[in-house]
Amino acid sequence: MEAPILKSKEEIEAMRPAGRIVAKTLKLLREMVVPGVTTLELDQAAEDLIRKNGAIPAFKGYPNFKPGVIDFPGTICASVNEEVVHGIPCDRVLCKGDIISIDVGANYDGWFGDAARTYAVGEISRKAAKLLSVTEESLNRAVARLKDGVDLGWISAAVQEHAEENGFSVVRDFVGHGIGREMHEPPQIPNFVNKVFRKSGVEIKAGAVLAIEPMVNMGGSAVRVGNDGWVVTTKDRSLSAHFENTVAVTADGVIVLTEE
Ligand code: MG
Repeated sequence: MEAPILKSKEEIEAMRPAGRIVAKTLKLLREMVVPGVTTLELDQAAEDLIRKNGAIPAFKGYPNFKPGVIDFPGTICASVNEEVVHGIPCDRVLCKGDIISIDVGANYDGWFGDAARTYAVGEISRKAAKLLSVTEESLNRAVARLKDGVDLGWISAAVQEHAEENGFSVVRDFVGHGIGREMHEPPQIPNFVNKVFRKSGVEIKAGAVLAIEPMVNMGGSAVRVGNDGWVVTTKDRSLSAHFENTVAVTADGVIVLTEE
């Protein structure tokens, strides 16, 4: 596995606006997620806000490696219920009891920010609410372990342990990533570890900027990609949640760049 591309203090400062714009967009969308709204309305509001802030939507036009599949058409990824990630915004109307995972990426002045949240649409079941809180906690536990010199496996283990202790499973086919001048930089950040060899061999050093993004399923960990070539759903159609932040590791501690 490759090591992260380390950033200077000045470069981390330069990444703040992109992170802030992503946070601001998620805050707006959180208010908009109510029964009756469509995922396309969320997408248009997100694009407007990102562009008004002088940034560029990072996912729009993202190429797909499969032949015949369109470039990603949305500003946000809008993944509802059993959809894990990469849902394409459309005229789907959100209903009370749904959950929606919204992933937002923005580029400002050449630097990327990337974050995701899963929101409840109106009142949701107690078990769905638990899935959301456990997934968010698993992200926060991973971030809490970040410091100069830590092995990446320790970060991955934080997510997996918390999800599995609560009876859920982690997605293995998609992972977090380094981030900076590119949206996807090394290393890949799995949400699971080899239970025998917990060390990944990748050392996180001050200057690493990472997008940590647990994807947690209520049922099994298996996922499949839909006919549109993008949307990823759980194989057993169980609910899935996704929380992500872009975080910078410094000698003085961790900075969450995608919180206001
Ligand atoms: Mg990401």
